[in-house]
Order: sequence, then C-alpha cells, then structure tokens
Amino acid sequence: MSPDTPQSSGATPPEWVARAAELTAQLNHHSYAYYALDQPSVPDAEYDRLFQQLQALELQHPELITPDSPTQRVGATPLPFFRQVTHAVPMLSLGNGFSDEDVLAFGKRVADALAAAAGANTMDGNVVDTASAPVEYAADLKFDGLAINLRYENGLLVQAATRGDGATGEDVTANIRTVRAIPLRLRGDNIPTLLDVRGEVLMYKADFARLNERQRAAGLKEFANPRNAAAGSLRQLDSRITAHRRLRFFSYGIGLLEGAAMPDSHTGLMDWYRQLGLPVCQERALVQGVAGLLDFYRDIGQRRAELPYEIDGVVYKVNRFDQQQQLGFVARAPRYALAHKFPAEEALTTVLDIEVQVGRTGAITPVARLKPVAVGGVIVTNATLHNEDEVRRKDIRIGDSVIVRRAGDVIPEVVAYVPEARTEQVREFQMPVACPVCGSPIVRLEDETIARCSGGWIKCSAQRKGGLQHFVSRRAMDVDGLGEQLIDQLVDKNLIVTAADLYKLGFVALAELERMADKSAQNVLAALEKSKSTTLARFIYALGIRHVGEATAKELARHFGSLDALVDASELQLLEVADVGPVVAQSMIGFFTDPLNRELLEQLRAAGVHWPEHAAAERTPMPLQGNTFVLTGTLPNLSREAAQARIEAAGGKVAGSVSKKTTYVVAGAEAGSKLAKAEELGITILDEQKLIALLENA
Ligand code: NAD
Repeated sequence: MSPDTPQSSGATPPEWVARAAELTAQLNHHSYAYYALDQPSVPDAEYDRLFQQLQALELQHPELITPDSPTQRVGATPLPFFRQVTHAVPMLSLGNGFSDEDVLAFGKRVADALAAAAGANTMDGNVVDTASAPVEYAADLKFDGLAINLRYENGLLVQAATRGDGATGEDVTANIRTVRAIPLRLRGDNIPTLLDVRGEVLMYKADFARLNERQRAAGLKEFANPRNAAAGSLRQLDSRITAHRRLRFFSYGIGLLEGAAMPDSHTGLMDWYRQLGLPVCQERALVQGVAGLLDFYRDIGQRRAELPYEIDGVVYKVNRFDQQQQLGFVARAPRYALAHKFPAEEALTTVLDIEVQVGRTGAITPVARLKPVAVGGVIVTNATLHNEDEVRRKDIRIGDSVIVRRAGDVIPEVVAYVPEARTEQVREFQMPVACPVCGSPIVRLEDETIARCSGGWIKCSAQRKGGLQHFVSRRAMDVDGLGEQLIDQLVDKNLIVTAADLYKLGFVALAELERMADKSAQNVLAALEKSKSTTLARFIYALGIRHVGEATAKELARHFGSLDALVDASELQLLEVADVGPVVAQSMIGFFTDPLNRELLEQLRAAGVHWPEHAAAERTPMPLQGNTFVLTGTLPNLSREAAQARIEAAGGKVAGSVSKKTTYVVAGAEAGSKLAKAEELGITILDEQKLIALLENA
C-alpha cells in the first residue's frame, strides 16, 4: 500500500461514494469503541480489512477522501474527562505493510526518494548512484500498547499525555507517575532542558492474565487483550487503580528537544535514552536494506509467542535522522517508517455449531465449528470452548458472530461473541447426556468443571485413540510417523487396543492401511523399534496418568529411579516427591493398582521397552534444593534456558518474579526492575561467574 498521494481515474461511480461513506462511518464507530472506550467492537484484523478497502477506494478516487475519513486521521478525539494537552510535535501513526511485497515497495520508495534528494543536492542535479549503499534501517518491535508522550523539564517528569488524535492528547500525568518503569527523574549529566520522550505503555501477558483473573473473581468485566487492559488502566480517573495494574513502558521516539544535542540516528537516540535511564527494548536491530528487514521480521515472527508482551508486528525506521527529514511525512504517518504487521491473532467469524470432543481422559470439551477463517496465518475451522461453564460464562451461542484467537501454537479459542451482531436465531449449547462416541453416560462430579465420559478406555474408542496419540507423541515415546489418522484407523479396525499392541503390529497390517505405502509402513516399524529405548521419565509420562504431566514424570523418575519402586510406592512415599500432592498421589495409586494397567506395564516391558534405571539410593544429589532463583538481564555466556536447566538439574527452582522467598537473583546486562527489587529486599545477587561457581561447588 503506497501512502503517496493518489491519482484519480475518472468519474466516481455513485455506489463507490456510498460505500466510502459507509466504510467511513463503520470505521469511525469502531475507532471510538477502541480508542475512546477501550472496548473494541471488532478484532483489529476486521478493522484493518475495512480500512484497506477504504484506502483502496480513495486511492483510485481521491475526491472520495472526506475530512473525517480515518485514513486522514490519527486515533480519536480525546475524552473530555481528562485535561487536554496539545502536542508540541504531532504524534503520528505508521504506514502499514502486510506482505514482503509491501516491504519491498517501501524499501524502493525510500531508496528512490533518498536518491532523488541526494541528486537535488548535487551541483548538476544528477541523481547519484546509491545502489551500492543499501539504506540503513533500525528495526524495532511494534508493541501492542498505547503511545504516550513524556515531557521532561530539566530532567524531571512534568507531564504525560496520550496520543489522542495526534494533535491533542489526554493529560495522564498522575497515572503515569505510578508506572514504575518510567523514571520520574532522568539520570546522568547530559540532561536536556526539555525533552519529549515518545514510547509505548503496555501490559505484560502474565500481568494481563493476573488482572483478568482478579476481575473475574471480583465479578468485574474482563479486558479483551493486554492492549485494552493497558489503555483502560492508564485512562483511569483514579490513579490508585492504575498503580495496581503493573504497566510497563518502552521508549522508541522523540518529540521536542531543547538544551542538548540531538543524536544523529534512531539507534543513537536509543543509546542516549538508556543513559538517561529510560527503558529501551533490547529486541531490536540495525540492518541494511530490505533483506535485513525481512530477516528481522522472520526472526521475531518465530519468537513472537515467547515474548513476555504482545506485539502486532515490527517497525522499520530509516536510521539516520537527516534521511528521515528528507523523506518527510504523509497525512497521518512518516514516510521513513513502516509497520510490518504479523498475521492477526484474532479474527471475526460465525459459530456454525457447537459439538463435543472426547479426550484421552474422557474429558468432554465443547468445540465450536466455525465458518473457516484465517487467524495467525492458518485457516481455522474449529475452536475450543474449554468446558461447559466457559460456554455459559462467555455466553457463546450457535449462530453467533465471534472473535476467534490463535496465538503461536496454542489451540484456537473463542474469545467472545459480538453482541451487536446477535440475532434471535441463535441457539444455546446443551451438554449431551451420553458420550457421542461410545454412548456411556457423561458425568460431571460436583466439584469439577470438566464433564467426562464414564466409558473408560475399554469402552470408549475416543479415549483409546487419545491415550495412544499421547503415548506416541514427541515428548512421550516419540514414535515418528504414527499420526492421528493412522491411530484412528488402527483403533477403528480393532488392530490395537492398548499401547502394548502397537509393538505387536506387523508389516502387513500396517501396509494395508489407507494412505500407507510399504516404505511408510517400514518407517513406522523402525520408529516403534527405536522408541523401545527410552527414559523412565518419558515412559511414565507416556502412560497418560491423570495429573501426571511431563515435569511430574521427570520428578518421579528422578526420585524413584525404577518403575518397580514407583509402582509399589505408598501414598506417603509418593507425597515425598516435590511435585506430588494428594490428588496426584491418589491418581497414581488408582492407576497402578488397576490390574489391567499392571498387565499393560508387563506387556510393554515384555515387548522390549526399556530405560536405564538407578536405585533410589543412588539418587543424584540435589545440592540446591530449596533455593529459588530469579534470572534477569542477559548473561554474557549462558542463555537463560541453559542457566535455568543447570539450576534445576542441581535441584534449584527458577521463578519469574522477585519476592521475599527468592534466595538468589542472577543478574546480567540490562537487568531491570527485578534487580532493583532484589537490592531493596536485600537478596543475594549473583553474576554469571558466581552462579557457575555456586553450581560447580554445590
Ligand atoms: P498502529 O498501531 O498500526 O501504528 C502506530 C502506533 O504504533 C504508534 O502510535 C505507536 O503507538 C505504536 N508503536 C508500537 N511500537 C512502536 C515502535 N517501535 N515505533 C514506533 N511506533 C510504535 O496505528 P494506529 O493508528 O495507532 O492504529 C491502528 C491500529 O489500531 C490497527 O492495528 C487497527 O487494527 C487498530 N484499531 C482497531 C480498532 C478495532 O475496532 N479493533 C479500531 C481502531 C484501530
């Protein structure tokens, strides 16, 4: 999408005029709900889709552009409850790109405009050759929060304002003062007399989840996403509420500056900001040309789900400020920057039906069958509704328009229905009384949220299939090539009943299955053979005992050392294991005292499934047991995962936040508030060297 001035192509058809007016009205309605009320009425992807339609219409027929068109404006009019602040330098939006082509077009526009500017600056006016020097870009994350301007006078925070409509924002100084990440006074000696810091206020995913939990417990409305939670929390009339909401901040830009020299690039500005004590995100890069931009996009895209905060894309900025100035602005955005968006994680679609699925433990999960829709880069047709209570709580009905979310590899879920779109034709979901697979009664114990099929794996083929899928899964027995469809066929044809039957499968039986070539049958047999050599932890996990997840399985294997010791363990002995409480212990005893399960274990061992064992007495020493570590900042050599693995291997625990229970804080470069908190609480702080010494001497 080019943000350049469009050219008209003939007379405007009246239906286009009407469509443009309709789109403008819809978009302005959504904008109001989003910016002014912090309660979006549709997902961003839907807003963006309408926005692009309008932009395309206006590009062809510029006379359609009205002063109230959202393509000409930034944000929304500030709310009257707050004092208004006129921005000394307008706060703009960003041009958007959704595809590699959009980035290529942006790169070309930038390179051409810079070449032209360089040409105009040469004596003879000829364009100089810039092809040999690709443009240098600063690539940042596009934080999904809200833009804020922080004004510092002689190093003191004197005012904070939202972006508002770009020209005028809302004064939220009192609330911003409660955000611990924002310094009230700048540090160092190079303090300007006046500085407008631009950046994003956001909420971490974990803080968002906790906030919504609290809202739910108090019977209050939950927030749709961390962005809305951050915006809603900041635009409070009572700053005590904001203070409870744990907001964060990252700086990324500048407005007015007086009394200090302006750095000459975006990266220079970020370095200066760090010296001034302003938070700057370290997930950023300085790259050359479009190829560098796309590399950054792909790298961040792969790690998006692991980041502690939500981002909706990355932002590319021409790094040199003199070049930024040469490029200038269009109506609502700078020409020197582009927001390259990730596929939206939320989309709008319709619930065609609500059915139930039977899991490996018999758990009955209501699943919404959806009108196919693209979310998070894939087409989604089903989304989980978790359980009956959740369907009621969210009040999702068959026929509703709903927002569907798919983040990272997480199973798609229905977030909410769109009240404005509900018709009288919608139908409520009824939990069936009998299992749709085996017909056994569905029961729901009084204190449980999950309803279950009472058939067990003997009667219910869905439970059998689920159990077998879990048994062969990557983190369990890791049998490559034995996917869901093959297991379905094997169970449906009665070729296998228990996991032990898998190891009795012959070549002929496998090769006769649908979509199985001889080669794939051989591969499956080889994979089964390979899986026989495993670890005790994987084996315990593969059994699919209720409440025994991967971590507990590891702990059990380490503690008991052998399967026999585990099978014969009493409840008291089980309770000695770190991860095991009464519910888990009961579940295991129930499993191991069942004669059918005992037989299964014997059969699996007879089939040749084996693992190294050690006597319980030979247990690896756990010198750091009882110590809780918090990691912060970047360590010079050890990655965070490696440090965590080594601490855990020595029996220590790694926690996410510093509290009185923390034994050590391991701090690397860029350590932030956790380090400060540790110092405040007088907790021992280790650097990497000291950590390694502790691990080695332990
Ligand atoms: P934008 O959010 O796409 O981009 C501009 C903003 O990006 C800046 O103002 C700044 O706040 C932010 N930003 C984050 N990281 C940045 C960085 N590193 N450098 C610079 N800026 C950074 O544009 P917009 O005009 O704020 O709003 C459009 C967005 O809001 C779209 O995603 C749209 O879907 C959404 N929206 C949704 C609805 C709805 O109803 N769901 C309504 C209106 C707008």
